[in-house]
Amino acid sequence: MRILPVLAIATLGATFVATPATAAPPAPTAPGSTASGPTAYGYGGAVATVDPTATAVGLDVLRRGGNAVDAAVATAATLGVTEPFSSGLGGGGFFVYYDAKHHRVSTIDGREAGPATMTSTYFIDPTDGQPYDFQEARVSGLSVGVPGTLATWETATKQWGTRSLAALLRPAADVADRGFPVDATFRQQIADNAAAFGQFDATKALYLPGGAPPAVGSTQRNPDLADTYRLIARQGTGTFYRGPIGADLIRTVQHPPVSANPVGTWAYPIRPGTLTAADLASYQVRKPAPTRSDFRGLTVYGMSTPSSGGTAVGESLNILEKVDPAADRVLHTYLEASALSFADRGRYVGAYTPQPVLDRLISDSWAKQRACQISPTAALTKPVPPGDINARGCTPATVGGPTEQGQSTTNLTVADRWGNVVEYTFTIEQTGGNAIVVPGRGFLLNNELTDFNFTNTQAPAADPNLPGPGKRPRSSMSPTIVLKDGKPFLALGSPGGATIITTVLQILVNRLMLGMTLPEAMAAPRASQRNTAGIQAEPAFHTTYGPALTALGHSFGPDVPELGAATAVEFTRHGGFIASSEPVRRGGGSAGVVHPGR
Ligand code: GLU
Repeated sequence: MRILPVLAIATLGATFVATPATAAPPAPTAPGSTASGPTAYGYGGAVATVDPTATAVGLDVLRRGGNAVDAAVATAATLGVTEPFSSGLGGGGFFVYYDAKHHRVSTIDGREAGPATMTSTYFIDPTDGQPYDFQEARVSGLSVGVPGTLATWETATKQWGTRSLAALLRPAADVADRGFPVDATFRQQIADNAAAFGQFDATKALYLPGGAPPAVGSTQRNPDLADTYRLIARQGTGTFYRGPIGADLIRTVQHPPVSANPVGTWAYPIRPGTLTAADLASYQVRKPAPTRSDFRGLTVYGMSTPSSGGTAVGESLNILEKVDPAADRVLHTYLEASALSFADRGRYVGAYTPQPVLDRLISDSWAKQRACQISPTAALTKPVPPGDINARGCTPATVGGPTEQGQSTTNLTVADRWGNVVEYTFTIEQTGGNAIVVPGRGFLLNNELTDFNFTNTQAPAADPNLPGPGKRPRSSMSPTIVLKDGKPFLALGSPGGATIITTVLQILVNRLMLGMTLPEAMAAPRASQRNTAGIQAEPAFHTTYGPALTALGHSFGPDVPELGAATAVEFTRHGGFIASSEPVRRGGGSAGVVHPGR
């Protein structure tokens, strides 16, 4: 989102002035300016987010000598304040880090975990044997997984940072106290959630002042969240996972604080969850090896399970490389490769997919087996079946059902002067999470467990993404770092549910195959083919490419106004950065560099 003018962050040292929202994409950051538009060129470090306040906080950490991890954590904590419907202490995410000193890519899996008592029928209503309606499951205690975000920040800071977590939470606490101006995106996200938010006093008090969304231009404060950050800063993360904040969180899950005076009506019962203090206390981040695949001499690192992002992006790129389409068939092949990868993801990828299966999905031999199904002149009929992991050749298996996910989440990209890079995607799942603010603590809870499939989508085969004890739901988050000759070349990620995978893939296709610059690749119209009959496209994509693609046999579903809200940083040959965020989507993003210039 872009926050309205003029926000001066005086307490951060260097004063930062946010650019105003405009209808047209703002111009790139001018050399010598600290203003932050969607694109910035320069040196000394770079930050790209959806929000100028958060970008300013990250840049300030870099200017004061912090490294990319320090800046990423401070930026993320600030997004928890200014992007509370997409991220925050109540959620989880995936952190990918390139360590310049050791030339190593590492990851942190801070995905939410389900209760130890969770079974495969967790989202089946015992009274009628039917799966809950999505919104019924979402706005409940049932949907809440143990939040991994704070543990991610702590782990990253301890392992790779140079500042204390306490120091990195301070700017975010200050923003929460002082407040920030409400913009149209923020207001709209509340309006879209008004009926759900209106059922809980703590959510109402924060986001429906006087019973309605706050006016654009009004100041949004969150003193409870400021206090929560400060309590964690003083007492450590134990206060969240094993202390009073955790106790409040568990009480909220087990006894959703439904208002006696709701605003608006909610069509479903609000069910309690079964998450316990023991689930919270036993939570640990994981540190899986990143996925790794090669594309045209570049090395692409992504997030492994429980995210499907790394394997799906890697598999798609491998297929594109195998097909090696002519220029006028690149988008056709992108859509086909993505449909094939989504079929395979649905069949094979979940939290517990064995490593040999993951390795096979991003192997060249698998890409060959899948790529041979793509014709340059005729689109495959969707949905396509998943490939047979035990076979060789083009033999299709049985057809599997597609999966859908919502549109929330936020992404940040940070690089520092030493060449370290953080790509971090984090979320509370739906925009607005489960709609319940923990009373007195100022943050919304996630509904991440609804990322499980409620019933088997792959029958008669097994579904790798059914709920299970302590299990983490499959994600689509795709924080990606691309190396060239062993050095960072490009880092990118996006929100957008299952469209995250296609947004990241399409930006890579635009940049690496279609010869666009990074800002062009980010701004270009998007389309998402997730193995469904109709492509989901932005209107500009449909208008521009629809006729040629339709002639090849592609079908379009209803258009969507926008896909994703990506951020990226490219590393230039001369040691500089191109920091890039959305010019328009989700109200426009904010990219900045420490020393502007080209
Ligand atoms: N929960 C989703 C995932 O992990 C992300 C939510 C979204 O971006 O809408 O894939």
